[in-house]
Amino acid sequence: TAGAFGRGGPSRSKNRKSKRAKRQEMEQRRTREIGGVRVPKGDGTTVLRLRRGSSLADFAEKINAEPAALVTVLMKLGEMATANQSLDEETFKLLGEELGYVVEIVSPEDEDRELLESFDINLSAEAEDEDDEDLEARPAVVTVMGHVDHGKTRLLDAVRHANVTEGEAGGITQHIGAYQVQIDHEGEQRGLTFIDTPGHEAFTAMRARGAKVTDIAVLVVAADDGVMPQTVEAINHAKAAGVPIVVAVNKMDKEGASPEKVRGQLTEYDIVPEAYGGDTMFVDISAIQRLNIDELLEAVLLTADASLELTANPDHEARGVAIEANLDKGRGPVATVLVQTGTLRIGDTIVAGNAHGRVRAMFDENGQEVTEAEPSRPVQVLGLSAVPRAGDSFLVTQEDRTARQIAEKREAVERNAMLAKRRKRVSLENFDQVVAEGKIDTLNLILKGDVSGAVEALEDALLKIDVGEDVQLRVIHRGVGAITQNDVNLATVDDAVIIGFNVRPAERVNDLAEREGVDMRFYSVIYAAIDDIENAMKGMLKPEYEEVELGSAEVREVFRSSKFGNIAGSIVRSGVIRRNAKARLVRDGAVVSDDLAIESLKRYKDDATEVRQDFECGIGLGSFNDIQEGDRIETWEMREIPRV
Ligand code: GDP
Repeated sequence: TAGAFGRGGPSRSKNRKSKRAKRQEMEQRRTREIGGVRVPKGDGTTVLRLRRGSSLADFAEKINAEPAALVTVLMKLGEMATANQSLDEETFKLLGEELGYVVEIVSPEDEDRELLESFDINLSAEAEDEDDEDLEARPAVVTVMGHVDHGKTRLLDAVRHANVTEGEAGGITQHIGAYQVQIDHEGEQRGLTFIDTPGHEAFTAMRARGAKVTDIAVLVVAADDGVMPQTVEAINHAKAAGVPIVVAVNKMDKEGASPEKVRGQLTEYDIVPEAYGGDTMFVDISAIQRLNIDELLEAVLLTADASLELTANPDHEARGVAIEANLDKGRGPVATVLVQTGTLRIGDTIVAGNAHGRVRAMFDENGQEVTEAEPSRPVQVLGLSAVPRAGDSFLVTQEDRTARQIAEKREAVERNAMLAKRRKRVSLENFDQVVAEGKIDTLNLILKGDVSGAVEALEDALLKIDVGEDVQLRVIHRGVGAITQNDVNLATVDDAVIIGFNVRPAERVNDLAEREGVDMRFYSVIYAAIDDIENAMKGMLKPEYEEVELGSAEVREVFRSSKFGNIAGSIVRSGVIRRNAKARLVRDGAVVSDDLAIESLKRYKDDATEVRQDFECGIGLGSFNDIQEGDRIETWEMREIPRV
């Protein structure tokens, strides 16, 4: 009889048949069919580890499957996603369960912990090993937060000076990112460490790296201005981090100061003064007149004693966090680190982020050389190989080699993560795409300009753009001056695009933006900026397409024809094969070519427009002739993604 293969049909020897049957059986055992697609299957216990922020393509790579097949499987489970979209843990677990894998999402912190464990450094086990009797009280670490212009910087100045006795180091403290003050408290000398970068941006940046630095937040609210947007942000950040708050009601010297109003307003955010039955301490101060600063410090100490148990073991190798760092022309990389446990000494070998080296010298906030630093002490460290980032953790290792290797491994991890990250963040170019993927519906912008008039004009004009109802435009931060690391960190956290009008990024900011995949745009004409943003917003009104699997066929025999090229005698394994459909050829799980089309399709001798599952057919892939028995032909079409 004429075979189904258009031209003659395959000759089937018994032997071949059994071989093929075996292969099929094997394949059936290793894979399973879901919704017309064969996907590799796990045994229900196989653990699959994925980085946080992974996509279906990453999942597919791990199990040796086609991303498109997973898109289909997920669709059957009621979830729409494209192959490169990053998915949450829940979705991966759902997919994993369906395919027989136990999915574990690995955070960067987990990954780093594992890296350290591979060097026999186990931080959590060490912490558990510590006996209570080894623990000693340590100073609280304080961050000053609040709305812009409410006096954070002034307060930090006032605190610094409240402590510096006349003549000590000329009364001049240097900015190194943090400083410690000593206070007489009930006849006892107590220390407090202040992070010398006001605002919650630095706080957020460190938290984004998984570093917990702050024990207590001082919330500055100007008595003449009251609760403002960044006051609320600061409250939210402190609460998210589980950090107790002490409120400093500032500018009490000003006319119109209304501390009672501030207390009333804050009650709405669950910050209730003790006088009203709450548990938050309020202190009315004037940073400029240095009024009540001692009382404020007292309140911080009392709050720390009441709600926190601040202890650390000073008696081992130091660990902590880098607070600030820069490259000094003469001295090389200079980093301010905060020791969190143990004692740091000159000569110690340390690794901080992907910088490493020996501590050559240490200085305190007065520029005085110190030889050791105990828990909660900030010190400037010289001797690192590179500049760590704010929020990078540091630790002392026994061997130079260990520190170097850890730093190198981290750098490699970071490089890989960067490559993966690059495609993910929002840019003006891909904004429409991320909207279509359902990831966001708001274009967040950070505006920086050379003069405030320009920033306001730009913001006004931007907010007037008619963007339709599907999306929104939001200016999350604006300011005058160069684009700073804070701007980039904020953009990282909130997925924002940075617009610079007649300004440039500050030193090292370009690198950071590049590393974090943050889109920065520079303009000197307002209309050019508006045009670009308008186009980005409207871009998403274009229809968005995604690949939908149509069907696949298995090649059982190849027929060579000088006239038609090679014809693949195939059986349709799933879905349907349609003439003219886009196709790819897969051999042993690897794509041989993916830019093909079903140029000819035959059932017996007749041309067919489509052939369904379990039927045999002859497929011609045009001039593409590299077809072998056992290959798989997959077809798909691009479908418009419905707007939700
Ligand atoms: P930050 O943006 O929160 O760091 O605010 P700054 O510390 O830079 O202060 C903003 C403005 O408020 C400056 O002009 C200060 O001089 C002023 N300021 C700060 N504290 C006080 C205060 O206690 N009283 C008065 N009258 N002005 C203050």
